[in-house]
Amino acid sequence: MDIHEYQAKELLAGFGVPVPRGGVVYSAEQAVYRAREIGGDRWVVKAQIHAGARGKAGGIRLCASEAEVRQAAQDLLGKTLVTAQTGPEGLPIHRLLVEEALPIERELYVGLVLDRRRERIVAVAHPHGGIEIEEIAQREPDAMLREVVEPAVGMQPFQARELAFGLGLPAAQVNQTVTTILGAYRAFRDLDATMVEVNPLVVTKEGHSLVLDVKMSFDDNAMFRRPNVAELRDHAQEDPREAEAAEHGLNYVGLEGDIGCIINGAGLAMATMDMIKHAGGEPANFLDIGGGASPERVAVAFRLVLSDKKVKAILVNVFAGINRCDWVAQGVVQAVREVQMPVPLVVRLAGTNVEEGRRILQESGLPIVTADTLAEAAERVVAARNQARAA
Ligand code: GDP
Ligand code: MN
Repeated sequence: MDIHEYQAKELLAGFGVPVPRGGVVYSAEQAVYRAREIGGDRWVVKAQIHAGARGKAGGIRLCASEAEVRQAAQDLLGKTLVTAQTGPEGLPIHRLLVEEALPIERELYVGLVLDRRRERIVAVAHPHGGIEIEEIAQREPDAMLREVVEPAVGMQPFQARELAFGLGLPAAQVNQTVTTILGAYRAFRDLDATMVEVNPLVVTKEGHSLVLDVKMSFDDNAMFRRPNVAELRDHAQEDPREAEAAEHGLNYVGLEGDIGCIINGAGLAMATMDMIKHAGGEPANFLDIGGGASPERVAVAFRLVLSDKKVKAILVNVFAGINRCDWVAQGVVQAVREVQMPVPLVVRLAGTNVEEGRRILQESGLPIVTADTLAEAAERVVAARNQARAA
C-alpha cells in the first residue's frame, strides 16, 4: 500500500524527522490560506499522487505570490498528471501539499528498503538526489552507500553517522541527518513499511537538513494491525477494479489479454492462465475468488471481469474441495442472469457434487459452454474468443 507525500511527512515528523512547514489542501482557497499561515514569500505547490517524477511533469510549482499559489492550485486540482512513473493513463490530482519553498544548497538521496534476499532492512544513500535512483545507480554505482541493519539490535547510530559522513556532509549537518535517518528507520520498523525513499533530502543555504520529498510504501498484510496507517489509503489513486476486488476479499490483477478468468485458488488460477496461453489465448486478468464463493461474490467477480472492455470471453474454473459445485453453479447462474452476460462463457467444475453442478448449469437454459478438464476448458474458451473476434 502506498500513501501520499504529505501523509508520509506527517508520519516521519512524528518520529522527529525535520520536514518543511506546510500542509494538505483540497481547493485553491485553502491553498492561499495555507500559504498565508506558513508565511514568507516563496511557496511550493505540490500535486499529491501516488507516483514520483512530478517535477518534470509540471506537478511541482514554485510560487512567489499568493496569486501564483492560487493559480497553481487552480491549474493542478482536478487534472490528471502523467509522469514517467504513472503510465499513460496518469493519476488524478485531488489534493495538494503547500509548503514553504526552501533555498536549496544540496540534494541528497536516502532510502530504506527491504532486502528480501538478505532478509534485512538496508539503508542506502547517495550524494546526488533529486533524480531517479535507478538512473543514479546506473551512472555512478560506486557512490552508492549501504548499511545493512541487524534485526536483533536495529539500526545503530554509528551506521547513520557513517552514511551522513559518506555523503560528504560537514559536521554541523551530520547530526540533523543522523536524526533523519534514524527517525526514518524507526518509522519503517514501527509502521510495517516496505520502503521509505527520501529523494531528495536537502541541505538549505542556511545549513539545515530536511526531507523535501518522500515516498512510503507499506506491507498490505500488516495493515490489520496498523489502523492509523491503513486509514491513509486513497482509493482514488488505485486501480478501481483492484480496489473493488479488495473490498469484497477478492484477489484481482488486471492483465493485457482478452480472456477473463474467474477461478478459485491462486495456484489453480496460475495453472489456468498457463493453459489459456498454451491454447493460444491471453488472460485478461488474474482473479482468485477464494474458497467459500457465495453467489454474491461470484456476481462481483463477473462484474469486475466485465468492467474490462477488452474481455471477449470468460472462463470460470472451480475445483470444489471445501466448496460445493452445486453452490458454485447456482452462483454462476444467478450472476449470469444479473449481469446479462455479453460475452461467451465457459465453465469447468470439478470436485464435490460435480454432477449436480453440471445439471444446474444445463437446466438453466443459459448459453453456457461446459468442459470436463482444464485443457478442454482452455481450448473452448480460446475457440469462443476467436469466434467472438470474427463476429
Ligand atoms: P518529484 O519530481 O515527484 O520527485 O517531486 P520532488 O518533491 O522531489 O520535487 C522535484 C524537484 O523540485 C526537487 O528535486 C527540487 O529540485 C524542486 N523543489 C521542490 N521543492 C522545492 C523547494 O522548496 N525549493 C526549491 N528550490 N526547489 C524545490
Ligand atoms: Mn522526488
